Amino acid sequence: MIRALLPMLLISGVASAAECGPDRLQTERTIVLKREGAAYGAHQHTALSLAKGEVVLTFDDGPSPENTPLVLKALADQCAKATFFMEGRNLRRSPELARRVVGEGHSAGIHSDTHPNLSTLSSEQQLDDLTRSRAAYKAVFGSETPAYRFPFLEETPTMLAALKQANITVASIDLGINDWIPEDTTAVLAQRLNESLDKAGRGIILMHDANGPTAKALPTLLKVLKDKGYKVVHLEWEQAP
Ligand SMILES: [Zn+2]
Repeated sequence: MIRALLPMLLISGVASAAECGPDRLQTERTIVLKREGAAYGAHQHTALSLAKGEVVLTFDDGPSPENTPLVLKALADQCAKATFFMEGRNLRRSPELARRVVGEGHSAGIHSDTHPNLSTLSSEQQLDDLTRSRAAYKAVFGSETPAYRFPFLEETPTMLAALKQANITVASIDLGINDWIPEDTTAVLAQRLNESLDKAGRGIILMHDANGPTAKALPTLLKVLKDKGYKVVHLEWEQAP
């Protein structure tokens, strides 16, 4: 287990379950972020304090009744914890599945209400989407969302200001696997992950649990991480005050 004191971050160790032996990918450590208007992900912001070879697994666009259960199984099989950025409309449709995600030890944030490109909307419309998605999260989990990921990673000044004001972490990314093409095979996604890892070496990985090919490929993608010696870091947030 790696322990480090990092500025602005609270660190806690993770106890691996007995059955999560060295043959599994596992979760190496957990970073507990403060509830503050910080923004992470080198694609647009400051990189999270990760060592070389450390990655954070994140999944967007769910929960999806068809695909999220497959993602949960693949993660559980490897004792790996992830963060799921959920759409408000999907939280309303599948509240039990959303609670199951968190119940299995993963963390959750929001990813807008209806996945619009916020940069094409008026300020009022953007804030309305945020209000609805925050309400959907609160209705399902009983607390304020700690984190937000922009649809299409399209940030706007209006939203950045509102999120900062609400002490919601902006979660951008460091690398992705461009997993939105329905025809993608597992081999193609694994190859993209390989190339992205070789380029970035560490960071927050964007994947999509609502995407069928990703859900199907995840056991292979996690094996790629394991075989290349990557360590999974889980992001969590302080309890809401
Ligand atoms: Zn998305």
